[in-house]
Amino acid sequence: MVSKTLINILLIEDNADDAELVQAALSNVKDNPYCIQWVTSLAAGLARLKSGSEHEPIDVVILDLMLSDSSLNCSLNSTLNTSLNSASNFVSRGENRANITPNSDQSLAAFDQVVQAAPDSLILVLDNNEERAQQIFARGAHDFFTKNHINSYWLPRALRYITEHKKHELVVCAVEKELFEERERSRITLNAIGDAVLSIDLAGNLIYINRAAEIMTGWPQNDALGRPIAEVFNIINSTTRKAVINSTTRIIHENEIVTLEANPILLRSDGTECVIENSIKAIYNRDGKATGAVIIFHNADDSRTTALKMTHLAQHDFLTGLPNRLLLTERLSQAIGLAYRNNMQVALLFIDLDFFKHINDSLGHAIGDQLLQSVAERLVSCVRATDTVCRQGGDEFVILLSEIERPQDAALTAEKLFVAFSEPHLIGVHELHITLSIGISVYPGDGKNAEALMQNADAAMYHAKIIGRNNFQFFKMEMNARAMQRSFIEASLRRAIKQQEFILHYQPKIDIASGIIVGAEALIRWQNPKLGLIYPAEFLSIAEECGLIIPIGGWVLREACQQLRTWLNAGLRIMPIAINISAAELKHKYFLDGISQVLRETGLPPYYLELEFTETILMRDAELSVTLLESLKAIGVQLTIDDFGTGYSSLSYLKRFPVGTLKIDSSFMRDLDMRDHARENDNATIVSAIIAMGKNLKQRVLAEGVETLEQFAFLRSHRCDEAQGLYLSSPMPAEDFSRLLVSNALPMLRNHQRTDFS
Ligand code: C2E
Ligand code: MG
Ligand code: MG
Repeated sequence: MVSKTLINILLIEDNADDAELVQAALSNVKDNPYCIQWVTSLAAGLARLKSGSEHEPIDVVILDLMLSDSSLNCSLNSTLNTSLNSASNFVSRGENRANITPNSDQSLAAFDQVVQAAPDSLILVLDNNEERAQQIFARGAHDFFTKNHINSYWLPRALRYITEHKKHELVVCAVEKELFEERERSRITLNAIGDAVLSIDLAGNLIYINRAAEIMTGWPQNDALGRPIAEVFNIINSTTRKAVINSTTRIIHENEIVTLEANPILLRSDGTECVIENSIKAIYNRDGKATGAVIIFHNADDSRTTALKMTHLAQHDFLTGLPNRLLLTERLSQAIGLAYRNNMQVALLFIDLDFFKHINDSLGHAIGDQLLQSVAERLVSCVRATDTVCRQGGDEFVILLSEIERPQDAALTAEKLFVAFSEPHLIGVHELHITLSIGISVYPGDGKNAEALMQNADAAMYHAKIIGRNNFQFFKMEMNARAMQRSFIEASLRRAIKQQEFILHYQPKIDIASGIIVGAEALIRWQNPKLGLIYPAEFLSIAEECGLIIPIGGWVLREACQQLRTWLNAGLRIMPIAINISAAELKHKYFLDGISQVLRETGLPPYYLELEFTETILMRDAELSVTLLESLKAIGVQLTIDDFGTGYSSLSYLKRFPVGTLKIDSSFMRDLDMRDHARENDNATIVSAIIAMGKNLKQRVLAEGVETLEQFAFLRSHRCDEAQGLYLSSPMPAEDFSRLLVSNALPMLRNHQRTDFS
């Protein structure tokens, strides 16, 4: 209210001469800041003060205590206020007071009313009765003036003084408020933190203790304050158990943070103990003089436990609780060092779960996680407590056998694992069987350091996978060479995709009864600029593992469709061309869309595109395969089960797979000839059974890998529908195949017809 430059004064004075005196005294002030509103009665004054927000607030009230209406106003009630209110807001000069003089009590009561109406205003009282001054000050007046002192020197001076004083009071008030808030903030913060905080004065007596310190020392604030620090903060040396000389007061004079002693024991008021970590710092006032010290401490046991917990988390797998790769590397290096000194050996078993991904994908991650936990427990149950079982990540585990005498010990552990894993894992309602592929490397023979041993055990595991899973392999040097070759092929394949080094060869499919070419299988080859023509066996499995099969398969699909379109445009008699679909392609989310899109783009009638899926791939998730095959059938493409007879199809699924052709695997062609058939050759039995079954299911049966006249004759005599194989024609480039389409002349068929079966 007094911070602004303009000062609003309400002059309550019923004597016009006095009022003029006041106004004149203030009018000559330099840069006159005063804005005077004059009222001639107490009632009008009170009304103005109570009018509140309607007007500018009044900063200073100059009140004549001898107002004639003081007596009236105090004896009558406030109804009079109202009538006087409007009448006397503006007063003409020279107006004289009514001839009633209030007594002292009435004057004081009038003053009180003003104070009540304007609690925030400064009040300067005009009164000739100096004795009353004392009483007036006691009731809250800011200054007192006898009328003969009203002049242009004293009145402005008094006003200046009281307004400045008020300003100062307000600042002090604001500072106090801020200080209070600051203190509250500190108090709440200090009580909320986990660290214990004490502070002492120069004499070493306690002047502050926070909640945590109360709890840790066992001293409630009321008892603790004022006591010597050594009583509340009672510490002893953790080894000697002697009292630590509590030199906090000495520390006050050292200008740095100090620790009394490393991890002393705090003796609580109830006699219990705890190890603490502490620090002490002196507190200084504005002049740089030490006034005391603050002591901060916390339970070191807690931080030790936390530190241990953190280390455990960093070194262990979250899901299984097993040591992780980090801890394994550490333990492996230690084991190598120890084995070196003791002339012992160390074995690493690198374990990968077979088809875990399949379980995870089909039953969901929650089941997958539980299975991993169950696997972890079983692995641990198979080794000694001194060995380390670690989860390497995903479905890979590593077992470190730290002190073995010969590599065979590792083989024994592996055998033990196979036995343990022959039992199913019971996960919820599921009984899950999972097998292991294990690669073993042994120190020092297979590597002198942790990294080499890990790499070589991994290579051996990979080898175990290749040769059929569910087995263990010791590392051999050639495996490394193979691993290197693998990464070389992968890099070359990436380049091959970019530079379009692939080509398709077409192998005819013959209708056995008529000898007519009824289709062909497109087979990929890699025309490597340096190595020449490479067959799929050399690169497809690597392409599958590293995901490159997706772009490669996409290329095969498009290339075959485009080729057919070219032949169609050239007016050739075309027939369905089969392409092979890998597991990864089948599972790919855009597989169906990809097929439709290429058919659309090339404008090829879907009937001419045939897809071959191996029986194994289809049976891996038979239910899903049914759905997928149905969708493909709806597109209108032909469907064939490849390598039939190797994938353990169940008859019920076979009925539900909407496929047109069963392609008997080439392995059944072995020993298949008429003469041996008399001896009930196994393959002959299987092939004839498949042919009969195909007829029942109304599916065509094709025999692949037909290499000899005898095989062909056998198939023909058993009414097999189609044949494919070297005896009839090897796969050939597109130009050769197009010539064949024109002539339909396969030399061996001519032979064949001429000799045996015409
Ligand atoms: P597959 O689908 O069973 O193809 C038949 C394989 O048998 C072909 O080998 C073919 O050249 C070979 N073959 C043909 N006639 C005879 C014969 O009389 N005797 C014997 N022993 N073999 C014969 P290829 O071309 O090396 O392909 C091998 C496998 O690679 C194929 O087996 C197929 O699974 C896969 N493959 C080939 N091309 C592709 C492709 O474009 N994509 C995918 N995903 N896989 C392909
Ligand atoms: Mg095939
Ligand atoms: Mg096949």
